[in-house]
Amino acid sequence: MNNELNEAMAQGKPIERRIQKTILVVDDTPGNIDMMLNILKEYDVIPATSGEEALFLLENETVDMILLDIMMPSMDGFEVCSRLKANEATREIPVIFITAKNDLDSIEKAYDAGGVDYVTKPFRPRELMARVKTHLHLREVIGKLDYLATHDSLTGLYNRRKFFELGRKLYNSSKSTVSAVIIDIDHFKRINDCHGHHSGDLVLKAVTKTIGALLPKQSVLGRVGGEEFAALIDACTMDDVKQLIDIIRITVSELIISIGGGAGLSCTISSGVARTGDGVASLDDLLKKADAALYEAKQSGRNRTIFRQSDTCTRQLPDE
Ligand SMILES: [Mg+2]
Repeated sequence: MNNELNEAMAQGKPIERRIQKTILVVDDTPGNIDMMLNILKEYDVIPATSGEEALFLLENETVDMILLDIMMPSMDGFEVCSRLKANEATREIPVIFITAKNDLDSIEKAYDAGGVDYVTKPFRPRELMARVKTHLHLREVIGKLDYLATHDSLTGLYNRRKFFELGRKLYNSSKSTVSAVIIDIDHFKRINDCHGHHSGDLVLKAVTKTIGALLPKQSVLGRVGGEEFAALIDACTMDDVKQLIDIIRITVSELIISIGGGAGLSCTISSGVARTGDGVASLDDLLKKADAALYEAKQSGRNRTIFRQSDTCTRQLPDE
């Protein structure tokens, strides 16, 4: 799969058309699986002969669709589907039931369990293929819409709404200290005014790419304002956070951002950092403290980081 992706990217071809979709076929009758393998030749098919095996395979495999039999020993298709829908990692995979059961109760139960379609045996191969293609296409469109709704289109970072959604999840599930960092590009308005908005966009892209590359993998990073970014880092000591943010600050200040025509721009960032502990009752609280620290960083000369542990300082937004 990765080779295919790399090859597609190297050739500049549309990636999604080059990647073979993967379909998990779950049926306790080997003959039915063989028939599916024959019909679904253009796809990468993973067979499973029981519900348990399917759930086990999905712990490690990423699939684009599941074709699911209902009548299977020990765990039936309804149960398998319900479990898939209760699990965040598999919830979005479209499930098409393929079964000999054609009574209305079963059809209704299948949709209630989260299935997107219901095909009865014996089925017509061409009709099955048409349904498979339709649901794969729908899933792809939903995926694209979901990306657009949750990411900032310029920088590719999470947008404000998604940042808070994932941030809350991280904050609530953390068993350690959470560090919040709010980063703002210094004199960004001046960059836009002097060099144009296109150059400003290039600066935003370069700065966020640098920040994203230096943050620990499990951090949540979002664009929460025009030139303001917020990051949540879990289980990082105060010393490590200090070192990390300093590395980010210095790396950004050393960037020469090409704005075309052989010209290059550099910029600096200011950051405010706060950590969970005394006086922090919520994520909003934590971010308010980081924001207050950022304000102080701006007021005291920019291109610096201010750390807050626990106080009740409030702030106004800096004017740029
Ligand atoms: Mg069966």
